[in-house]
This record gives sequence, C-alpha cells and structure tokens, in this order.
Amino acid sequence: MSNIIHRSLRQTPPIATHASGITVFDNAGNAYLDASGGAAVSSLGHGHPDVIAAMHRQIDRCAYAHTAFFTTEVAEELAQTLVAKAPAGIQGVYLVSGGSEAMETALKLARQYFAEAGETGRSLFIARRQSYHGNTLGALAVGGNEWRRKPFAPLLMEVPRVSPCYEYRDRREGQSVDAYTACLLDELETAIIKAGPEKVIGFVAEPVVGATGGAIPPTPGYFKGVRAICDRYGILFIADEVMCGMGRTGTLFAVEQEGVAPDIITVAKGLGGGYQPIGAVLAQGAIVDRLRHGSGAFLHGHTYIGHPVAAAAALAVQQVIERDNLLEQVQRRGATLKRMLGDVFGKHPHVGDIRGRGLFLGIELVQDRATKAPFAPERKLHAAIKNEAMARGLMVYPMGGTIDGQRGDHILLAPPFIVSAGELSEIVTRLSEAVDAALLK
Ligand code: PLP
Repeated sequence: MSNIIHRSLRQTPPIATHASGITVFDNAGNAYLDASGGAAVSSLGHGHPDVIAAMHRQIDRCAYAHTAFFTTEVAEELAQTLVAKAPAGIQGVYLVSGGSEAMETALKLARQYFAEAGETGRSLFIARRQSYHGNTLGALAVGGNEWRRKPFAPLLMEVPRVSPCYEYRDRREGQSVDAYTACLLDELETAIIKAGPEKVIGFVAEPVVGATGGAIPPTPGYFKGVRAICDRYGILFIADEVMCGMGRTGTLFAVEQEGVAPDIITVAKGLGGGYQPIGAVLAQGAIVDRLRHGSGAFLHGHTYIGHPVAAAAALAVQQVIERDNLLEQVQRRGATLKRMLGDVFGKHPHVGDIRGRGLFLGIELVQDRATKAPFAPERKLHAAIKNEAMARGLMVYPMGGTIDGQRGDHILLAPPFIVSAGELSEIVTRLSEAVDAALLK
C-alpha cells in the first residue's frame, strides 16, 4: 500500500523508472510513447542534454535565493526572453511554480490593478462554462468543470458564466460561423451589462480549450470581439495559456494567431517542459505601472517564486525551441498528425470531430455522427480508451462529461515537439486499436 495520496486511492499507477525522448519506461519493463506530453507539458521530450546541463549549472551556482532578498540573473533573463516574444505591450513577468498558482496570481493582480485606482467595487470575473483554470480555490472558481467544482462549491466565489466557443457542438445547422461568433459575443456583452460593468474585473478564457474540451480552437474573430468588448467596458482580458501556450499550437502564444494582445497571460506546463515546476504571469506594462506608481508593490508572493533552477530549466527549454526552430516543427508535425488522424478516424462511426492547432489536437467521440449524441457519461469511454492505450504502450490525455454530462468524451494528443513522423504514425496506430478495443467493451 502506497503512502502517497494518488489520484486514485484504489489503484497505484505504474512506477516510472526512466524516460528518454518521447518514451517513458516503468519498473515492469514496459515502454510508453508519450503522445500527450504528460498533460501537454513535455515539449522537448525527456532527457534533453541542454536543459539538464543548464539546470546543473544553476544548481552549482545558486540553487535557491529568496525573492525577499535577491533576484537572479537567470530569472531576469527568462523574464526578458518572455517579454521580447510576448504580444504587444506585455512588460511584466511574475514567476511562479505552476498553472494554478499562475491563475491565482493573475486574478489577484487584476483585482489589485483596479483597487489601486480606487475601483474597489470590482470583484467579479466572468468566465466560460467549458473551461479549466486549475484546482486551487480561485482558479477552481473561475473554471467551469462541474465535476471538479462540486464538492468545493460552498468555498468558491460567484462567477457569471457564458458559453464556450465550441463550433462543432453549438453552431446551429445553417448558421454561419460569423453569426455563431456574433451570438457568443452578444452573450458576453449581455453578461457584463447584467453583472454591472463597474463590478467586473475581467473575462477569463483559454484561447484553445484544453482539459475540458480536447483542443477546441476559437472561431475566426472571436477573440478580436472579446478584446473589443473588454475595451468597451474597461475590463481586463485574461488569457489562460497554461496548456495551449509556449509553442504548443505552433506559435509561442496561442493568442498570436488571434491577432490580439491580452492584458494578462498565464503560462506554465510547456514553459519548463516538465524539467521543473514553473509557471508565469505576463502582464501589460500599464498594469505593472499602476502598481509601481501606486502602492509600489504587488501584494502577493510565495516561497518559491522566481526559483533559479526552475528559471534555468525554462530558459534552456525556450532557447532550444528557438535554436532548433521547433515552432516550425510543431506546425509541420501538427499538420502531419492531423492528416494521419483524418486518415484513420475521418470516417470512423464514433469519431465526430478532429480538431486543434499545432501539436495540440483532439478527437471527440460520439455515439452517432449524424446527431452528435455523446456516449453515456457512466460508460466512461474516455477512461477506457486511456486504459487500452496504456496497455498498448501509449499515453493519451482523456476527458469526458465535464459539462452537465452532455459534452461527451474527448482524447487530447499533445506529443513533445521533437516527435518524429515515424513516432506519430505509431501513436495513431496504437490509438486506433485502443479506441476500437474500448468501444467493444
Ligand atoms: N489552466 C489550464 C488551461 C490548465 O489546463 C491547467 C492544468 O491542466 C491549469 C490552468 C492548472 O495548472 P496546474 O495543473 O499546473 O496547476
């Protein structure tokens, strides 16, 4: 019996002993192709010598320096690197230890931005129903994953919710994409007006939905519309790129493809590529300036913010991505993977949609392609596919029934950026076998 409180308290997972490239090995001698990068984390795969060397160098120089006393060269350089590549106007970087921490930080930074100007009546975040923003109380409150929220509901702040941008399910027959997008934007504007614009801090959304949807991209113009509405009502647009950011969709930031600059962006997973726990909050210069010229401090902080070894790992990961032209590789390999998925699942009677960007792709499983009826949530098809995939030496990221049990099962694929075409082919073959085996159960 393990002393660790594992995700399942009834089943101890296999023990990972070592990993290399896109393969993870366990103590029973099994090898698993990592087609999900863990949870869309591993961008350079495992055992990258440049990242390991950078971490060693930093451990030897200075493994830890508390930010109450010091900054470090490596944290400063990471912040500069991120700002240099971020959307227009981003100037400030706050380094944390992961995605939920990044979201908590973003929510507090947004609130303090208004409080500094005396707008203390602003207390509301508006978010989308189909979303996941983390498991700490603030992040869980803005997230729309009912299953995760339910036991903790009394502890969570009220968050008005609007529809996600989910063309496959929600665009009506005969409705144009533009008309569908306009409806969603109307809904957002109505929610802001109903809440009282003077009470709203910001709108929170994942540019490409990850854990609750299986790589759902926005419709063209959706985020331009969001940006315009936020500007009209003087509220902040907070883009959660914890999962879809740092190159995963083929551009460093997913919102680059939308042509908008958020007020605040959160990143994590791919930032350190799994080599160290690290996340970051990126903020517009105007936000940082208001605090700088106001109270002079952001009222926040954790023991491990700006951790130098985590910063060294993230800096090395980002340098390798640039040096090896990996964003281009993500676009190329992403197109290959999408084509392969289309070849294998395009006519599959139980695959309704194949979607996503770059190496952030999802397939949605349905009982009936014509009606898009999902499988019953109790069947837990996504979990069965994960188990069948693991039995075939394949890691995929499954999810299902996250909104009122109505949205069905999805499988997310997010292999490391270094994946080869041969490995992609093997991933798709094993996934196809796993899906068919799970459907027979
Ligand atoms: N935001 C998004 C979009 C995520 O997908 C996740 C994790 O899956 C989080 C936030 C929370 O990140 P973490 O698990 O690192 O706390």
